[in-house]
Amino acid sequence: MSDADPMARLNTVFAGQKAAFEAERHRPITERKSDLKKLEAMVKARADDFAKAIDADFGRRSKAETAVAEAGFVIATAKHARKHLDLWAAAKRKPVPPTMAPGKAYVRREPKGVAGIVSPWNYAMQLALAPLAAALAAGCRVMIKPSEFTPNTAELLRESLSKLYAEDHVAVIEGGPDMAKAFCSLPFDHLFYTGSTPVGRMVAQAAAANLTPVTLELGGKSPAVIASDFSLDEAAKTIAWGKFFNAGQTCVAPDYALAPKGGQQAFAQAVLREADAMWPDVAGNGDYTAIISEKHHARLTALVDQARAAGAQVMQAEFDAAKAGNTRVFPPTVVVDPPLDSALMREEIFGPVLPVLGHDGLKDAARFVNERDRPLALYVYSKSKQTARKFLASTLSGGAAVNVPMLHLSVEDLPFGGVGASGQGAYHGETGFLTFTHERAVFEAPVWHPSRLIFPPYGKMFEFF
Ligand code: NAD
Repeated sequence: MSDADPMARLNTVFAGQKAAFEAERHRPITERKSDLKKLEAMVKARADDFAKAIDADFGRRSKAETAVAEAGFVIATAKHARKHLDLWAAAKRKPVPPTMAPGKAYVRREPKGVAGIVSPWNYAMQLALAPLAAALAAGCRVMIKPSEFTPNTAELLRESLSKLYAEDHVAVIEGGPDMAKAFCSLPFDHLFYTGSTPVGRMVAQAAAANLTPVTLELGGKSPAVIASDFSLDEAAKTIAWGKFFNAGQTCVAPDYALAPKGGQQAFAQAVLREADAMWPDVAGNGDYTAIISEKHHARLTALVDQARAAGAQVMQAEFDAAKAGNTRVFPPTVVVDPPLDSALMREEIFGPVLPVLGHDGLKDAARFVNERDRPLALYVYSKSKQTARKFLASTLSGGAAVNVPMLHLSVEDLPFGGVGASGQGAYHGETGFLTFTHERAVFEAPVWHPSRLIFPPYGKMFEFF
């Protein structure tokens, strides 16, 4: 099918993958391991090409952050799946109750079929290829729709994956929102979506029309809460790193911070001081990433301007726009005490702007968090394990980390996903494998089984109830 007719290609590829899945069904484990190994080798060999494509898409992307959060992450994910695949894919024996004996009960872990993956722009390689690794481990056929905001990376994904896998096994479908809508309306056996909460709602509706099971990896406002026993300077260091990594364009970046009341100013100053130590001279610093588009940059400017106009104090790292050579660099910014009804405190920020508010103790902080949508991540800082765990018990979020932001997602065996408005379903490690797997329950009876004794006519057989 010619590229001139992308919608027709979408349907042809889907039909081809369905047919290929029906023909093969249970992809042998050795084949799946080789699928994963090929992915690892390709990512290793082409890490530099991907770094250049991502840099071009962002206008400036830290090479180090790309290495760790894109290629490095995907290689670790694929390797982990390959190493554990025998165990994950093996049938799981279940106990048979005496009333059902003799017989065997077990769960077969079957590939679901053809999976669709819709990925966002913020980690354009990781968020397409890490779900791909999970789907390949499960033995699925896969179609990927990358974000239209990262066209260079999308094109490289298409080109590199087309050399590794036949189109009826793995295919990349490029395109904007119209293509995304058509993509999500296909009757996939599983649809895996990473992106914003508003679009996630539309994806869930499209999937419901086909009764397609869906994983929604969404966003939201992830809080960082500092208990009064924790040093503000220490917390500021890790929160600055988490917030300004990839210039805040990270789904699990701390969105806002709650410091003990009266400490907001000192904490805000410490965050900017730490940001300056990590990314001196942001204008010319190649390790400080730019904002993905002019539109996203203008949105961040408006969020900060509105909060300032409403009386909040805005502190910004020193920034010489002329020196940046890139109009989309946005300096590290801290906003002290923004109004709660400002857009800054209602919308996910997704940029290098940190609102700082005060709390009257962890009970008050938990109330603040619980009055809002359930966040994707939650960070609590305390010297006391008990205090941190008590805070976790009084709130709910997709995932959480204590005394450091974001690192929970690098622990392969921890499920990663949201709850409520921040998403549903999860992946990473065995959870990712299971996302693309159908757990098929089987009961094997011998040729003669006592269950025959309960067939009608029942007489008084069940009168003991
Ligand atoms: P987005 O929702 O705008 O786009 C994501 C994908 O959805 C793109 O491929 C896009 O083409 C597609 N899309 C657009 N309109 C669609 C429609 N009507 N139907 C189906 N698909 C459609 O998100 P984004 O701006 O690329 O990403 C940022 C958001 O993603 C943030 O909210 C962030 O928190 C979230 N995110 C979540 C995770 C996570 O793992 N939970 C990871 C990264 C980003």
